[in-house]
Amino acid sequence: MKKYFIKAKKIYTFDSKKNIYNFIIVDNGKISELGNNLIINENTLPILDLSNYIILPGFIDSHVHLTSTAMNEISVDLSSFTSLKEIIKTLEALRDSLPEGEWIIAKEFDPTNLEEKRNITQEELDRYFPNHPVLIIRKDAHSSIINSLGLRLLEIEISPINGLIKERDHQIAIGKAYQSIDPSLLVKGLIKTLKKAAEKGITTIHALEGGYTSPPNSPQLLLGLKQYFPIDVIIYYQTTSIKKVKDLGLKRIGGCLLVDGSISTLTAAISEPYLTNQGHGVLFWDIESLSNFIKTAHKEDLQIAFHAVGDRGIDLLLKAYQRVLKEMPKEDHRHRIEHFELPQKEHIKIVSQLNLTLSLQPSFLYFWGGEGKLYEQLLGKERAKRIIPLRSILNENIVAGGGSDSSVTPMDPFLGIYSAINHPNEEESITLEEAIKMFTYNSAYIGFLEKEKGSIEKGKDADLVILEKDPFEIKNKEELLNIRVLGTISKGKFAYKDPNLITNF
Ligand SMILES: [Zn+2]
Ligand SMILES: [Zn+2]
Repeated sequence: MKKYFIKAKKIYTFDSKKNIYNFIIVDNGKISELGNNLIINENTLPILDLSNYIILPGFIDSHVHLTSTAMNEISVDLSSFTSLKEIIKTLEALRDSLPEGEWIIAKEFDPTNLEEKRNITQEELDRYFPNHPVLIIRKDAHSSIINSLGLRLLEIEISPINGLIKERDHQIAIGKAYQSIDPSLLVKGLIKTLKKAAEKGITTIHALEGGYTSPPNSPQLLLGLKQYFPIDVIIYYQTTSIKKVKDLGLKRIGGCLLVDGSISTLTAAISEPYLTNQGHGVLFWDIESLSNFIKTAHKEDLQIAFHAVGDRGIDLLLKAYQRVLKEMPKEDHRHRIEHFELPQKEHIKIVSQLNLTLSLQPSFLYFWGGEGKLYEQLLGKERAKRIIPLRSILNENIVAGGGSDSSVTPMDPFLGIYSAINHPNEEESITLEEAIKMFTYNSAYIGFLEKEKGSIEKGKDADLVILEKDPFEIKNKEELLNIRVLGTISKGKFAYKDPNLITNF
Protein backbone atom coordinates (compact mmCIF):
# COMPACT_ATOMS: atom_id res chain seq x y z
CA MET A 1 0.00 0.00 0.00
CA LYS A 2 1.70 3.18 -1.14
CA LYS A 3 -0.23 5.82 0.73
CA TYR A 4 -2.47 5.28 3.74
CA PHE A 5 -3.79 6.77 6.88
CA ILE A 6 -3.24 5.48 10.43
CA LYS A 7 -5.62 6.35 13.24
CA ALA A 8 -4.46 5.56 16.77
CA LYS A 9 -5.48 6.28 20.34
CA LYS A 10 -2.16 7.94 21.08
CA ILE A 11 1.00 8.36 19.06
CA TYR A 12 4.01 9.19 21.22
CA THR A 13 6.26 10.85 18.67
CA PHE A 14 9.41 11.33 20.78
CA ASP A 15 10.12 14.46 18.73
CA SER A 16 11.96 17.29 20.47
CA LYS A 17 8.66 18.82 21.69
CA LYS A 18 7.36 15.46 22.93
CA ASN A 19 4.21 15.86 20.84
CA ILE A 20 1.46 13.31 21.17
CA TYR A 21 -0.81 12.88 18.14
CA ASN A 22 -3.56 10.61 16.88
CA PHE A 23 -3.01 10.27 13.16
CA ILE A 24 -0.23 9.64 10.67
CA ILE A 25 -0.25 9.56 6.90
CA VAL A 26 2.25 7.13 5.45
CA ASP A 27 3.40 7.71 1.91
CA ASN A 28 5.82 5.34 0.24
CA GLY A 29 7.29 4.12 3.51
CA LYS A 30 7.74 7.62 4.95
CA ILE A 31 5.65 9.73 7.28
CA SER A 32 4.17 12.46 5.11
CA GLU A 33 1.79 14.04 7.61
CA LEU A 34 0.80 13.68 11.24
CA GLY A 35 -1.16 15.50 13.90
CA ASN A 36 -4.45 15.56 15.76
CA ASN A 37 -7.99 15.23 14.43
CA LEU A 38 -7.21 15.78 10.83
CA ILE A 39 -10.35 16.59 8.92
CA ILE A 40 -10.01 14.74 5.68
CA ASN A 41 -12.25 12.93 3.41
CA GLU A 42 -11.38 9.56 4.87
CA ASN A 43 -12.62 7.77 1.82
CA THR A 44 -9.79 9.07 -0.25
CA LEU A 45 -7.16 7.00 1.57
CA PRO A 46 -7.12 3.45 2.93
CA ILE A 47 -7.30 3.54 6.72
CA LEU A 48 -5.34 1.40 9.15
CA ASP A 49 -7.58 1.72 12.14
CA LEU A 50 -5.59 1.40 15.37
CA SER A 51 -7.83 3.68 17.37
CA ASN A 52 -7.72 1.38 20.41
CA TYR A 53 -3.97 1.23 20.44
CA ILE A 54 -0.80 3.13 21.26
CA ILE A 55 2.02 3.85 18.83
CA LEU A 56 5.70 4.45 19.65
CA PRO A 57 8.65 4.93 17.31
CA GLY A 58 10.05 1.55 16.21
CA PHE A 59 12.70 0.28 18.63
CA ILE A 60 16.36 0.27 17.68
CA ASP A 61 18.69 -2.28 19.28
CA SER A 62 22.13 -0.69 19.12
CA HIS A 63 24.23 -3.75 19.95
CA VAL A 64 23.42 -7.11 18.38
CA HIS A 65 25.72 -9.91 17.25
CA LEU A 66 23.26 -10.82 14.54
CA THR A 67 24.86 -13.77 12.79
CA SER A 68 25.97 -15.39 16.04
CA THR A 69 22.42 -14.96 17.35
CA ALA A 70 21.20 -16.60 14.15
CA MET A 71 23.60 -19.50 14.64
CA ASN A 72 22.39 -19.87 18.17
CA GLU A 73 18.85 -19.92 16.83
CA ILE A 74 19.50 -22.94 14.63
CA SER A 75 21.46 -25.04 17.11
CA VAL A 76 19.69 -27.77 19.08
CA ASP A 77 18.27 -26.52 22.38
CA LEU A 78 18.98 -29.00 25.20
CA SER A 79 17.47 -26.95 28.03
CA SER A 80 14.44 -29.20 28.53
CA PHE A 81 16.25 -32.55 28.53
CA THR A 82 16.47 -34.61 31.72
CA SER A 83 18.91 -37.38 30.80
CA LEU A 84 22.02 -37.95 28.74
CA LYS A 85 20.30 -40.89 27.09
CA GLU A 86 17.56 -38.65 25.69
CA ILE A 87 20.11 -36.11 24.51
CA ILE A 88 22.13 -38.73 22.66
CA LYS A 89 18.97 -40.14 21.06
CA THR A 90 17.95 -36.72 19.75
CA LEU A 91 21.42 -35.90 18.44
CA GLU A 92 21.58 -39.34 16.79
CA ALA A 93 18.39 -38.55 14.89
CA LEU A 94 19.94 -35.28 13.76
CA ARG A 95 23.16 -37.09 12.83
CA ASP A 96 21.27 -39.46 10.57
CA SER A 97 19.70 -36.55 8.71
CA LEU A 98 23.04 -34.85 8.07
CA PRO A 99 25.77 -35.76 5.62
CA GLU A 100 29.02 -36.95 7.19
CA GLY A 101 31.34 -34.15 8.20
CA GLU A 102 28.47 -31.69 8.85
CA TRP A 103 28.53 -30.02 12.29
CA ILE A 104 26.12 -30.88 15.05
CA ILE A 105 25.86 -27.91 17.40
CA ALA A 106 23.74 -28.01 20.54
CA LYS A 107 23.30 -25.40 23.26
CA GLU A 108 21.99 -24.97 26.83
CA PHE A 109 23.55 -28.20 28.12
CA ASP A 110 23.03 -28.26 31.88
CA PRO A 111 24.21 -31.37 33.80
CA THR A 112 22.35 -30.27 36.93
CA ASN A 113 19.07 -30.94 35.09
CA LEU A 114 20.09 -34.45 34.13
CA GLU A 115 19.55 -37.75 35.94
CA GLU A 116 23.24 -38.52 35.45
CA LYS A 117 24.34 -35.15 36.91
CA ARG A 118 27.45 -35.07 34.78
CA ASN A 119 28.85 -33.73 31.52
CA ILE A 120 28.64 -35.78 28.38
CA THR A 121 32.21 -36.98 27.72
CA GLN A 122 34.39 -36.74 24.66
CA GLU A 123 34.59 -40.52 24.60
CA GLU A 124 30.78 -40.76 24.37
CA LEU A 125 30.62 -38.15 21.63
CA ASP A 126 33.34 -40.00 19.70
CA ARG A 127 31.53 -43.31 20.09
CA TYR A 128 28.12 -42.06 18.87
CA PHE A 129 29.34 -39.47 16.38
CA PRO A 130 32.58 -40.71 14.86
CA ASN A 131 31.95 -39.04 11.48
CA HIS A 132 30.29 -35.80 12.55
CA PRO A 133 31.99 -32.95 14.38
CA VAL A 134 30.00 -32.16 17.54
CA LEU A 135 30.02 -29.09 19.76
CA ILE A 136 27.85 -29.03 22.88
CA ILE A 137 27.61 -25.54 24.36
CA ARG A 138 27.02 -25.52 28.11
CA LYS A 139 24.34 -23.38 29.74
CA ASP A 140 26.88 -20.91 31.17
CA ALA A 141 27.73 -20.06 27.52
CA HIS A 142 31.40 -19.84 28.48
CA SER A 143 32.32 -23.49 27.97
CA SER A 144 31.56 -26.37 25.66
CA ILE A 145 32.30 -30.03 25.00
CA ILE A 146 33.75 -31.08 21.71
CA ASN A 147 34.45 -34.47 20.09
CA SER A 148 37.76 -35.52 18.56
CA LEU A 149 36.69 -34.97 14.97
CA GLY A 150 35.41 -31.50 15.83
CA LEU A 151 38.68 -30.64 17.49
CA ARG A 152 40.65 -31.89 14.49
CA LEU A 153 38.58 -29.85 12.04
CA LEU A 154 39.00 -26.66 14.05
CA GLU A 155 42.77 -26.87 13.69
CA ILE A 156 43.35 -24.90 16.85
CA GLU A 157 45.85 -25.39 19.58
CA ILE A 158 43.71 -26.42 22.52
CA SER A 159 43.93 -29.49 24.67
CA PRO A 160 40.59 -29.96 26.36
CA ILE A 161 40.22 -32.13 29.40
CA ASN A 162 37.71 -34.79 28.46
CA GLY A 163 36.44 -32.59 25.66
CA LEU A 164 35.68 -29.61 27.90
CA ILE A 165 36.90 -26.24 26.61
CA LYS A 166 36.48 -22.92 28.34
CA GLU A 167 36.45 -19.14 27.91
CA ARG A 168 38.53 -17.85 25.01
CA ASP A 169 39.18 -21.38 23.62
CA HIS A 170 35.44 -21.94 23.74
CA GLN A 171 34.79 -18.65 21.89
CA ILE A 172 37.31 -19.56 19.23
CA ALA A 173 35.83 -23.04 18.85
CA ILE A 174 32.32 -21.61 18.42
CA GLY A 175 33.54 -19.04 15.91
CA LYS A 176 35.38 -21.67 13.93
CA ALA A 177 32.48 -24.13 14.04
CA TYR A 178 30.13 -21.40 12.77
CA GLN A 179 32.55 -20.72 9.96
CA SER A 180 32.17 -24.27 8.72
CA ILE A 181 28.39 -24.27 8.67
CA ASP A 182 26.23 -24.46 5.56
CA PRO A 183 25.34 -20.84 4.60
CA SER A 184 21.77 -21.70 3.66
CA LEU A 185 21.23 -22.81 7.24
CA LEU A 186 22.62 -19.50 8.42
CA VAL A 187 20.22 -17.57 6.19
CA LYS A 188 17.32 -19.50 7.71
CA GLY A 189 18.61 -18.60 11.16
CA LEU A 190 18.89 -14.93 10.20
CA ILE A 191 15.32 -14.71 8.97
CA LYS A 192 14.07 -16.44 12.12
CA THR A 193 16.11 -14.08 14.31
CA LEU A 194 14.91 -10.94 12.54
CA LYS A 195 11.30 -12.11 12.77
CA LYS A 196 11.76 -12.55 16.52
CA ALA A 197 13.21 -9.04 16.72
CA ALA A 198 10.21 -7.62 14.85
CA GLU A 199 7.89 -9.42 17.29
CA LYS A 200 9.50 -7.35 20.04
CA GLY A 201 8.88 -4.09 18.20
CA ILE A 202 12.38 -3.71 16.76
CA THR A 203 12.61 -1.98 13.38
CA THR A 204 16.39 -1.43 13.22
CA ILE A 205 19.39 -3.38 14.44
CA HIS A 206 23.01 -2.31 14.74
CA ALA A 207 24.67 -5.59 13.74
CA LEU A 208 28.21 -6.05 15.07
CA GLU A 209 29.81 -8.46 12.64
CA GLY A 210 33.14 -9.97 11.70
CA GLY A 211 35.91 -11.16 13.98
CA TYR A 212 36.46 -14.62 15.33
CA THR A 213 32.95 -15.16 16.71
CA SER A 214 31.12 -14.62 13.41
CA PRO A 215 30.92 -16.80 10.32
CA PRO A 216 33.35 -15.70 7.61
CA ASN A 217 32.33 -12.66 5.62
CA SER A 218 29.21 -12.10 7.68
CA PRO A 219 29.26 -8.35 6.84
CA GLN A 220 29.27 -9.20 3.12
CA LEU A 221 26.53 -11.77 3.63
CA LEU A 222 24.31 -9.28 5.47
CA LEU A 223 24.91 -6.58 2.89
CA GLY A 224 23.83 -9.00 0.17
CA LEU A 225 20.68 -10.05 2.02
CA LYS A 226 19.68 -6.67 3.48
CA GLN A 227 16.97 -5.93 0.94
CA TYR A 228 15.16 -9.18 1.81
CA PHE A 229 15.11 -8.53 5.55
CA PRO A 230 11.82 -7.46 7.20
CA ILE A 231 13.61 -4.76 9.27
CA ASP A 232 16.67 -2.55 8.83
CA VAL A 233 20.14 -3.81 9.63
CA ILE A 234 23.15 -1.50 9.77
CA ILE A 235 26.59 -2.97 10.00
CA TYR A 236 29.50 -2.34 12.34
CA TYR A 237 32.47 -4.28 11.02
CA GLN A 238 34.51 -5.77 13.88
CA THR A 239 37.89 -5.63 12.23
CA THR A 240 41.07 -3.60 12.52
CA SER A 241 41.44 -3.57 8.74
CA ILE A 242 40.30 -0.19 7.51
CA LYS A 243 40.67 -1.43 3.97
CA LYS A 244 38.08 -4.19 4.51
CA VAL A 245 35.59 -1.64 5.80
CA LYS A 246 36.25 0.85 2.99
CA ASP A 247 36.08 -1.86 0.33
CA LEU A 248 32.52 -2.60 1.37
CA GLY A 249 31.63 1.09 1.40
CA LEU A 250 30.83 0.94 5.13
CA LYS A 251 31.15 3.96 7.42
CA ARG A 252 31.41 2.22 10.77
CA ILE A 253 34.27 0.20 12.21
CA GLY A 254 34.39 -1.85 15.39
CA GLY A 255 31.75 -3.00 17.82
CA CYS A 256 32.91 -5.63 20.27
CA LEU A 257 36.50 -4.89 19.35
CA LEU A 258 37.89 -5.71 22.75
CA VAL A 259 39.85 -3.22 24.82
CA ASP A 260 39.30 -5.57 27.76
CA GLY A 261 37.21 -8.66 28.54
CA SER A 262 34.02 -9.19 30.51
CA ILE A 263 33.15 -9.19 34.21
CA SER A 264 31.61 -12.67 34.26
CA THR A 265 34.86 -14.22 33.00
CA LEU A 266 36.99 -12.01 35.31
CA THR A 267 38.69 -10.48 32.27
CA ALA A 268 37.23 -6.95 32.33
CA ALA A 269 40.22 -4.75 33.26
CA ILE A 270 39.60 -3.18 36.67
CA SER A 271 41.71 -1.09 39.03
CA GLU A 272 40.77 -2.94 42.25
CA PRO A 273 40.94 -6.75 42.08
CA TYR A 274 38.05 -9.19 41.68
CA LEU A 275 36.92 -10.64 44.99
CA THR A 276 37.12 -14.20 43.75
CA ASN A 277 40.55 -14.53 42.12
CA GLN A 278 42.28 -11.28 43.14
CA GLY A 279 43.01 -10.63 39.44
CA HIS A 280 42.73 -7.28 37.67
CA GLY A 281 41.48 -8.51 34.30
CA VAL A 282 43.11 -8.15 30.91
CA LEU A 283 43.90 -5.31 28.51
CA PHE A 284 44.21 -6.35 24.87
CA TRP A 285 45.84 -3.11 23.67
CA ASP A 286 48.50 -0.68 24.82
CA ILE A 287 48.00 3.05 24.52
CA GLU A 288 50.31 3.45 21.51
CA SER A 289 48.75 0.82 19.28
CA LEU A 290 45.22 1.73 20.32
CA SER A 291 45.70 5.46 19.61
CA ASN A 292 47.38 4.67 16.31
CA PHE A 293 44.51 2.50 15.18
CA ILE A 294 41.91 5.05 16.31
CA LYS A 295 43.83 7.82 14.59
CA THR A 296 43.92 6.00 11.27
CA ALA A 297 40.20 5.13 11.36
CA HIS A 298 39.31 8.66 12.50
CA LYS A 299 41.32 10.16 9.64
CA GLU A 300 39.41 7.95 7.22
CA ASP A 301 36.18 9.46 8.51
CA LEU A 302 34.90 6.23 9.99
CA GLN A 303 32.76 6.06 13.10
CA ILE A 304 34.64 3.93 15.65
CA ALA A 305 33.16 1.61 18.29
CA PHE A 306 35.14 -0.20 20.99
CA HIS A 307 34.14 -2.61 23.75
CA ALA A 308 35.34 -1.35 27.15
CA VAL A 309 33.87 -2.72 30.38
CA GLY A 310 36.09 -2.26 33.45
CA ASP A 311 37.41 1.11 34.72
CA ARG A 312 40.95 0.28 33.60
CA GLY A 313 39.73 -0.66 30.11
CA ILE A 314 37.55 2.45 29.91
CA ASP A 315 40.45 4.61 31.10
CA LEU A 316 42.75 3.28 28.39
CA LEU A 317 40.16 3.78 25.66
CA LEU A 318 39.36 7.31 26.83
CA LYS A 319 43.04 8.23 26.85
CA ALA A 320 43.39 7.00 23.28
CA TYR A 321 40.25 8.84 22.10
CA GLN A 322 41.42 11.95 23.95
CA ARG A 323 44.83 11.86 22.33
CA VAL A 324 43.42 11.53 18.81
CA LEU A 325 40.62 14.05 19.22
CA LYS A 326 43.03 16.62 20.65
CA GLU A 327 45.30 16.26 17.67
CA MET A 328 42.50 16.06 15.12
CA PRO A 329 39.33 17.60 16.52
CA LYS A 330 36.15 16.83 14.62
CA GLU A 331 32.75 18.32 15.29
CA ASP A 332 30.47 15.33 14.90
CA HIS A 333 32.44 12.08 15.16
CA ARG A 334 30.08 10.20 17.52
CA HIS A 335 32.74 7.59 18.30
CA ARG A 336 31.29 4.98 20.60
CA ILE A 337 32.07 3.00 23.70
CA GLU A 338 30.20 -0.30 24.00
CA HIS A 339 29.11 -1.53 27.47
CA PHE A 340 30.85 1.09 29.69
CA GLU A 341 29.86 -1.03 32.68
CA LEU A 342 32.18 0.12 35.43
CA PRO A 343 33.35 3.69 34.78
CA GLN A 344 34.78 6.05 37.36
CA LYS A 345 32.96 9.35 37.91
CA GLU A 346 35.55 11.34 35.95
CA HIS A 347 35.26 8.95 33.02
CA ILE A 348 31.65 10.01 32.57
CA LYS A 349 32.76 13.67 32.44
CA ILE A 350 35.42 12.89 29.83
CA VAL A 351 32.91 11.04 27.63
CA SER A 352 30.77 14.16 27.71
CA GLN A 353 33.68 16.54 27.04
CA LEU A 354 34.89 14.48 24.09
CA ASN A 355 31.36 14.18 22.65
CA LEU A 356 31.65 10.42 22.63
CA THR A 357 28.50 8.33 22.57
CA LEU A 358 27.66 5.20 24.54
CA SER A 359 25.96 1.96 23.66
CA LEU A 360 24.62 0.41 26.87
CA GLN A 361 22.85 -2.83 27.77
CA PRO A 362 20.56 -2.17 30.75
CA SER A 363 19.30 -5.76 30.74
CA PHE A 364 22.71 -6.85 32.13
CA LEU A 365 21.41 -5.29 35.34
CA TYR A 366 18.30 -7.45 35.20
CA PHE A 367 20.30 -10.67 34.94
CA TRP A 368 23.40 -9.90 37.02
CA GLY A 369 22.62 -6.81 39.11
CA GLY A 370 21.13 -6.62 42.58
CA GLU A 371 21.52 -8.40 45.85
CA GLY A 372 23.74 -11.48 45.83
CA LYS A 373 23.87 -11.69 42.04
CA LEU A 374 26.93 -12.01 39.81
CA TYR A 375 28.16 -8.39 39.95
CA GLU A 376 28.04 -8.39 43.74
CA GLN A 377 29.71 -11.78 43.98
CA LEU A 378 32.63 -10.74 41.80
CA LEU A 379 32.99 -7.07 42.68
CA GLY A 380 31.38 -6.57 46.07
CA LYS A 381 28.41 -4.38 46.99
CA GLU A 382 30.08 -1.00 46.54
CA ARG A 383 31.33 -1.52 43.00
CA ALA A 384 28.23 -3.46 41.95
CA LYS A 385 26.22 -0.34 42.73
CA ARG A 386 28.22 1.61 40.18
CA ILE A 387 27.57 -0.74 37.25
CA ILE A 388 26.01 1.04 34.23
CA PRO A 389 25.33 4.31 36.07
CA LEU A 390 22.50 5.50 33.84
CA ARG A 391 21.37 8.55 35.85
CA SER A 392 24.93 9.87 36.16
CA ILE A 393 25.47 9.35 32.43
CA LEU A 394 22.30 11.13 31.32
CA ASN A 395 23.01 13.96 33.79
CA GLU A 396 26.12 14.75 31.74
CA ASN A 397 24.01 15.08 28.58
CA ILE A 398 25.64 12.07 26.98
CA VAL A 399 23.71 10.35 24.21
CA ALA A 400 23.41 6.70 25.26
CA GLY A 401 21.72 4.15 23.02
CA GLY A 402 20.13 0.96 24.32
CA GLY A 403 20.91 -2.56 23.21
CA SER A 404 20.87 -6.22 24.15
CA ASP A 405 24.29 -7.61 23.16
CA SER A 406 22.21 -10.49 21.76
CA SER A 407 22.71 -13.39 22.16
CA VAL A 408 24.16 -12.44 25.58
CA THR A 409 20.70 -11.17 26.53
CA PRO A 410 17.57 -11.45 24.36
CA MET A 411 16.60 -8.78 21.87
CA ASP A 412 13.76 -7.33 23.91
CA PRO A 413 13.63 -3.54 24.27
CA PHE A 414 10.93 -3.65 26.95
CA LEU A 415 13.23 -5.82 29.08
CA GLY A 416 15.98 -3.22 28.59
CA ILE A 417 13.58 -0.37 29.37
CA TYR A 418 12.30 -2.12 32.48
CA SER A 419 15.87 -2.73 33.64
CA ALA A 420 16.81 0.92 33.09
CA ILE A 421 13.98 2.27 35.23
CA ASN A 422 14.65 -0.37 37.92
CA HIS A 423 18.39 0.02 38.36
CA PRO A 424 19.43 -2.11 41.37
CA ASN A 425 20.95 1.12 42.69
CA GLU A 426 17.84 3.29 42.74
CA GLU A 427 19.88 6.49 42.42
CA GLU A 428 20.99 5.38 38.98
CA SER A 429 17.49 4.60 37.65
CA ILE A 430 16.12 6.74 34.85
CA THR A 431 12.57 7.64 33.85
CA LEU A 432 10.39 5.60 31.52
CA GLU A 433 10.54 8.35 28.92
CA GLU A 434 14.34 8.45 29.07
CA ALA A 435 14.53 4.67 28.86
CA ILE A 436 12.29 4.51 25.78
CA LYS A 437 14.37 7.29 24.25
CA MET A 438 17.50 5.16 24.74
CA PHE A 439 15.96 2.44 22.58
CA THR A 440 14.59 4.83 19.93
CA TYR A 441 16.06 8.29 19.29
CA ASN A 442 19.38 7.76 21.07
CA SER A 443 20.06 4.47 19.32
CA ALA A 444 19.29 6.20 16.02
CA TYR A 445 21.64 9.05 16.91
CA ILE A 446 24.59 6.88 17.88
CA GLY A 447 24.29 5.17 14.49
CA PHE A 448 23.98 8.46 12.52
CA LEU A 449 20.39 7.53 11.69
CA GLU A 450 18.43 10.25 13.47
CA LYS A 451 17.45 12.03 10.28
CA GLU A 452 15.49 8.98 9.14
CA LYS A 453 14.67 7.14 12.35
CA GLY A 454 14.24 7.28 16.12
CA SER A 455 11.15 9.48 16.34
CA ILE A 456 7.83 9.86 14.56
CA GLU A 457 8.21 12.98 12.45
CA LYS A 458 7.37 14.24 9.00
CA GLY A 459 9.83 12.95 6.42
CA LYS A 460 11.20 10.13 8.56
CA ASP A 461 10.76 6.41 7.90
CA ALA A 462 7.38 5.04 8.96
CA ASP A 463 8.95 2.74 11.60
CA LEU A 464 6.32 2.15 14.24
CA VAL A 465 5.45 -0.19 17.05
CA ILE A 466 1.82 -0.82 17.93
CA LEU A 467 1.10 -1.56 21.60
CA GLU A 468 -1.96 -2.94 23.30
CA LYS A 469 -1.39 -0.86 26.44
CA ASP A 470 -0.01 2.59 27.10
CA PRO A 471 3.36 2.10 28.88
CA PHE A 472 2.91 5.53 30.50
CA GLU A 473 -0.35 4.45 32.10
CA ILE A 474 0.54 1.13 33.68
CA LYS A 475 0.03 0.72 37.42
CA ASN A 476 3.13 -1.22 38.31
CA LYS A 477 6.46 -1.39 36.51
CA GLU A 478 6.36 -5.19 36.16
CA GLU A 479 3.61 -4.80 33.55
CA LEU A 480 6.22 -3.38 31.19
CA LEU A 481 7.69 -6.86 30.86
CA ASN A 482 4.41 -8.13 29.45
CA ILE A 483 3.33 -5.26 27.25
CA ARG A 484 2.02 -6.83 24.11
CA VAL A 485 3.43 -5.73 20.79
CA LEU A 486 0.48 -6.05 18.40
CA GLY A 487 2.38 -5.04 15.34
CA THR A 488 5.62 -3.65 14.00
CA ILE A 489 5.72 -1.48 10.92
CA SER A 490 9.01 -1.00 9.13
CA LYS A 491 9.12 1.63 6.38
CA GLY A 492 5.35 1.55 6.12
CA LYS A 493 5.02 -2.25 5.89
CA PHE A 494 4.07 -4.77 8.54
CA ALA A 495 7.20 -6.62 9.65
CA TYR A 496 5.14 -8.35 12.32
CA LYS A 497 1.43 -8.62 12.99
CA ASP A 498 -0.05 -10.26 16.07
CA PRO A 499 -2.85 -12.70 15.16
CA ASN A 500 -5.17 -10.66 17.40
CA LEU A 501 -4.65 -7.51 15.42
CA ILE A 502 -7.46 -7.54 12.94
CA THR A 503 -6.91 -5.11 10.12
CA ASN A 504 -7.56 -4.99 6.44
CA PHE A 505 -3.81 -4.55 5.85
ZN1 LIG B 1 31.37 -6.54 23.88
ZN1 LIG C 1 28.87 -7.48 22.12
